[in-house]
Amino acid sequence: MGHEKRSDDKHGFVFNIQRYSLHDGPGIRTIVFLKGCPLRCQWCSNPESQKVSPEVALNSRKCIGTKECGFCARECRDGAIIEKDDGQIRIDRNACSECFRCVDACPSKAMTLFGRLMSVDEVLRNVEADGIFYGRSGGGMTLSGGEPLMQPGFARELLKEARRRRINTSLETCGFVDWKVLEAACFHLDTILFDIKSMDPVKHKAFTGVTNELILDNFERLCREFPNLSKRVRTPVVPGFNDTMEEIGAIVDFIKGRPNIEYEMLAYHRYGQPKYEYLDRVYTLSDVHLDDGRMSELRGMAKERLGKLALENEPTEPRVRMEAPCATCGS
Ligand code: SF4
Ligand code: SF4
Repeated sequence: MGHEKRSDDKHGFVFNIQRYSLHDGPGIRTIVFLKGCPLRCQWCSNPESQKVSPEVALNSRKCIGTKECGFCARECRDGAIIEKDDGQIRIDRNACSECFRCVDACPSKAMTLFGRLMSVDEVLRNVEADGIFYGRSGGGMTLSGGEPLMQPGFARELLKEARRRRINTSLETCGFVDWKVLEAACFHLDTILFDIKSMDPVKHKAFTGVTNELILDNFERLCREFPNLSKRVRTPVVPGFNDTMEEIGAIVDFIKGRPNIEYEMLAYHRYGQPKYEYLDRVYTLSDVHLDDGRMSELRGMAKERLGKLALENEPTEPRVRMEAPCATCGS
């Protein structure tokens, strides 16, 4: 199996296609998750999205061990598979050249690949398979990530071609993108889901790796230049970061009165934590907990100031995003 490493306008790196989502735009939706993100949010539940190109993941719980298997080590030409004392393996990521021969050799799927190159047509054929649900529910395709606009040409072509095929389009964005890229996508969108995480630039930088000026500027310009575009602002509520009346209140006051706006708050969860282990990364928020009562108070305050919230009847429990088998890698 070959693993292409080049993307262009007609081809891009996708790490999941999730069907039957009810939360990421109007109606029943198919979410296409694109690789790459300019932020490093400490709570990120999709760490496999952050790097633009594909990467190898190792789930040690599925590994048979080098005594009975060891195919990965034999296939690796870079000496990047290290045998541990307990017969399990680890990946030396500095030595790894990302050839992915180990992924192809692994019989137990302990080694998997996050991300694969797909064409615009291949993605849309997956999306169109759910077409029967879109007509009845007003649903369609949502591009997510990562930040889908990290692959700007591919994201734009997906949206443009989806529209041509009469598929309703949504895009989830962190807003930290060049305005021209965002603008080009908006011409092909029915709904935009725009994250505003904090109004405090210092805190924003400490928890996401970037300040919020570009994000807020883009949001203001989006409201000015695309007043008729349906916009859902989203805030992940994260303990110790923004779970206060002041933080959420400042966001609510910033968006209040702008055209075609809905507001949604997403409760912190840590369902993405195991994936940090698969990628040899450290999850730093494992000790924090979001109180249901706190979330209700914050929702109540936001609802009072805005009049209503998006998905008002949604329970406060977090949503699991990766419950379906991955359509691109099958894991
Ligand atoms: S991706 Fe290639 S270089 Fe990296 S560990 Fe696997 S076989 Fe070795
Ligand atoms: S090929 Fe897969 S199952 Fe075999 S030792 Fe390597 S990771 Fe474990």
